[in-house]
Amino acid sequence: MTVKHTAWVRSISSNQGRVIAGFLAVIVLLGAISWYGYTRLTALSEQVVELTAQLASTTAVLQNSIAEATSSLSSALQQEKQSVQAQFGGVQSQVGSITGTVSDLQKLSKIDPELLAKYSKVFFLSDTYAPARLVEIPPAYDYAENKQLQIIPEVLPYLEKMLDQAKADGIPLYVDSAYRSFAVQQALKGQYTVVYGAGTANQFSADQGYSEHQLGTTVDLITTGTGGQLAGFDTKPAYAWLTANAYRYGFVLSYPPHNSYYIFEPWHWRFVGVKLATDLHTAHTYFYEMDQRTIDTYLISLFD
Ligand SMILES: [Zn+2]
Repeated sequence: MTVKHTAWVRSISSNQGRVIAGFLAVIVLLGAISWYGYTRLTALSEQVVELTAQLASTTAVLQNSIAEATSSLSSALQQEKQSVQAQFGGVQSQVGSITGTVSDLQKLSKIDPELLAKYSKVFFLSDTYAPARLVEIPPAYDYAENKQLQIIPEVLPYLEKMLDQAKADGIPLYVDSAYRSFAVQQALKGQYTVVYGAGTANQFSADQGYSEHQLGTTVDLITTGTGGQLAGFDTKPAYAWLTANAYRYGFVLSYPPHNSYYIFEPWHWRFVGVKLATDLHTAHTYFYEMDQRTIDTYLISLFD
């Protein structure tokens, strides 16, 4: 019985052992799976943490890049704006200077360049030249009655102001001669030739002087107490007054004493504009001593 019992027990024990062994194997397997799962999960979770950190860092880098890009774009735009503004300013100033040049040219186109030309024994004003317009000098300013002296209209106000001021200063000053056409001048020269002979006539009424009278800007001035003669004018207070004041009205003595161009003509005054006359006066020089190129720069301010 014991044997049977033992066998049964053994049999039972053997079955139980298998079950237990199987159970244990399952437990071990489950444990292993759990452990594997756990470690895998841990690793994954670490990876997630790491990726999250990387993402955050990448996001920060991207944010920085975007901020930098925005900033540099904004500064580039600002620079571009400033450059466009500067260019626009430059264009505006160019337009301004072009407008100025155009108005200067318009002003210049209305001024006859002959009015500031130097005339010499080799360069004459054309025989056919005549001023575009002439006006009569009011008779009150003329020395002789009914002479009907003429001058260009732009110069008349300067002449009137000069003679008015001379009168106010107690200096009797009158116009003896003004515009003379080529024909009139030729006739006059003919008279002189008859009276004084050819040599003297050329000196007295010669070619440089006539050119200036033909311009309509030049006058011969005379004062009282000379018996109607031009000669000796330089000894009169009128001449001293003109020497000190004529430039203020734009008039200059074309042929001063000891000039190297022509005989001294103290009565012969040419209008060259206040600016040029003032500069010549200040520099103690005279019109024919100045370079024609320099003179021409005063053309635009001739009637200022
Ligand atoms: Zn003269």
